[in-house]
Amino acid sequence: MPDQPLPHRAEGSALAVGGIQRFTTIDYPGAIAAVVFVQGCAWRCVYCHNSHLQERPKRRRPAAQPPQPSWSEVRAWLVSRQGLLDAVVFSGGEPTLDTGLPAALADVRALGFLTGLHTAGMAPRRLEAVLPLLDWVGLDIKAPLHDDGALHDAVTGVRGGAGSVRRSLAILRAHGGAFQLRTTVHPDWLTDAALQRLQQELRELGAPHSVVQPGAWPKGLQPLGRNPDPRVVDAAQTWSDVTGGA
Ligand code: SF4
Repeated sequence: MPDQPLPHRAEGSALAVGGIQRFTTIDYPGAIAAVVFVQGCAWRCVYCHNSHLQERPKRRRPAAQPPQPSWSEVRAWLVSRQGLLDAVVFSGGEPTLDTGLPAALADVRALGFLTGLHTAGMAPRRLEAVLPLLDWVGLDIKAPLHDDGALHDAVTGVRGGAGSVRRSLAILRAHGGAFQLRTTVHPDWLTDAALQRLQQELRELGAPHSVVQPGAWPKGLQPLGRNPDPRVVDAAQTWSDVTGGA
């Protein structure tokens, strides 16, 4: 199956920045980093906590959303962070869908920062193309990838994504660079049995187990970060106990 249908913008155009986080110690293992959020995603995950970044960048941003800096403005700010930050992580949205990502990664490397990527693995060929520019990748595994992928389809709101994620995982393993698998737990969508199945799949593939993180409620319910539902936290803790943590 080809990559998920995507391109947002003409080749060579600048990265569509959806926001930045100027300082983080949890988004790149062992490094002090900034996060650049990239606008646009092809999936509609039930627990997405960045749903304002899903819309394609060529469309007008909702009036309620504040204007965001251009990539050249972010790059200029990064110059002022040299010596203060170790790494820059591209997150989203789904950064691999943006044709400006390779140039932005090259810019970050040229400034002397480590480069990181958060991806859901929906575009394996695009992921493969940027791997030489990356020092670390966090790959989200949202649900079991085998069987018929039905649960993965239900969580992401898009059919057929599990195959793309399987190929992305194979590409990461073949590349040999540093990566981490991550799974968001929401007890209404991923049961313990489904999570056990996913980790078993990863073991059979010879991949590392997926690090669990608590998920957010769907729209209209409790969002992650403010009042996380105790069941979500409990589920993540339980699963960490089962797997032995990260
Ligand atoms: S892949 Fe990420 S950004 Fe896209 S809908 Fe899912 S959680 Fe949101």
